[in-house]
Amino acid sequence: MPKALRIYNTLSRKIEEFTPLHPNLVGMYVCGPTVYSYLHLGNCRTFSSFDMIFRYLKYAGYKVRYVRNITDAGHLEGDLDEGDDKFAKRAKIEQLEPMEIVQKYTQYFHDVMRAFNCLPPSIEPTATGHIVEQIEMTKELLSKKWAYEVDGTIYFDVEKYSKEYNYGILSNRNIHDLLDGTRELGGQDDKHGRLDFALWIKAKPEHLMQWQSPWGMGFPGWHIECSAMSKKYLGTSFDIHGGGMDLIATHHTNEIAQNCACNNISPARYWMHTNMLTVNGVRMSKSAGNGFLPDELFAGSHPLLDKGYSPMSVRFFMLQSHYRSTLDFSNDALQAAEKGYARLMNAFRLIDGLKTEGNSEAFVVALRAKCEGAMSEDFNTPIAIAHLFEGVTFINNVNDGREKISAADKIELKKIFHDFIFDILGLKEEVSSKNDMLNGVMQILLQQRAEAKAMKNFAASDNLRDQLLALGITIKDGKDGATYSY
Ligand code: AMP
Ligand code: ZN
Repeated sequence: MPKALRIYNTLSRKIEEFTPLHPNLVGMYVCGPTVYSYLHLGNCRTFSSFDMIFRYLKYAGYKVRYVRNITDAGHLEGDLDEGDDKFAKRAKIEQLEPMEIVQKYTQYFHDVMRAFNCLPPSIEPTATGHIVEQIEMTKELLSKKWAYEVDGTIYFDVEKYSKEYNYGILSNRNIHDLLDGTRELGGQDDKHGRLDFALWIKAKPEHLMQWQSPWGMGFPGWHIECSAMSKKYLGTSFDIHGGGMDLIATHHTNEIAQNCACNNISPARYWMHTNMLTVNGVRMSKSAGNGFLPDELFAGSHPLLDKGYSPMSVRFFMLQSHYRSTLDFSNDALQAAEKGYARLMNAFRLIDGLKTEGNSEAFVVALRAKCEGAMSEDFNTPIAIAHLFEGVTFINNVNDGREKISAADKIELKKIFHDFIFDILGLKEEVSSKNDMLNGVMQILLQQRAEAKAMKNFAASDNLRDQLLALGITIKDGKDGATYSY
């Protein structure tokens, strides 16, 4: 069992010793993707970070029940539950059923998670699969008078709640500041207080996804889904709740309010938040339009990229910064990560062939404890990686005959590298030269297809696309040119 684990808790704004509710079973809930469009690299950073956390908890000896939901209903455009339904809007644009949109983007999300070598969660519940639980929780909040109905829509009464509980506990803001910073009623004239938020929303007849409820046809608000699903699978009180930092002020604040009001206990003991991936200092987001798709990154087809990077180089790039630091995207940083990842893997491959002699070296004995020490202090991957690179230098020195390794140390060194590189950091072997080659060939073919199209030889360009499709390679035309995925 490694050193005691310490975790930064957003709730206390301190690093605290991790003491799970049950000695061997850790309950962890992470807010999952909203599957109405392709996820961008920023989303991937958050999910890869929690994958690393999941992996380290398991390495530390815990059995983990990791729940990561899929938001596939009830998500309106504004945080204040106003605006259009994102799924309905997308369904109209793509001329698909809303559930076809859900299926398409859930599939893409799973493909990307697999490419980044993220382990599947233990349970992946969907909002549409838990409408009953959301209605039940809303009913309970109504019966306990924490919520009120206005013409088929149910609102949570934040001002009433804040008289008994600290509504801004997670964001460290007091209710008066929050009220001062909030627009009048956020376009919803029928709610009583401007911080009140919808638990259930009355659907207009033309609304595409709607369900029967005691208050008529409607659909759930966004925040209630995570309260209802975490309660169902992890209980009213569990260990860790996570997501990106942008979820603190509204989504997680409202989740805590719903749970405290309904269950009389705050849901999670440790709230963990990942920092944002930025582009030129600006948060990567769907709405800012500065998002790269993982496919564009792998293929090097985005205008900001000078070439493609393999999924493991990108994962390594993300792990080189601490999950609570911002990470700015740059070609230089990606190139450095690509080289670093290759150096690490090359060193690992050298271990088997190292000549052994002499007695144990203090270095190897200390290496595991150093890596564990870094990970146990709030999952500090950059420091753990720095220690692994001391190992890389040692391996290269032994290989060049400048240092010695005993037979026992060689076995332990290989185990340390295996545990940290593969099991904890979640990296894996990649045949990068083949990837580069495929990418090069694809760029030539995409160029030929673009030329055929420019000369209005659509038969040739379609033929090329169809032949590639027969090989399992899909071409996607975008405004900045074509990309491919397989
Ligand atoms: P969404 O699909 O928009 O609900 O986001 C899924 C997850 O990605 C949430 O936990 C967000 O907080 C997180 N996220 C969104 N943008 C970024 C970003 N630029 N960097 C890191 N995480 C992000
Ligand atoms: Zn959530």
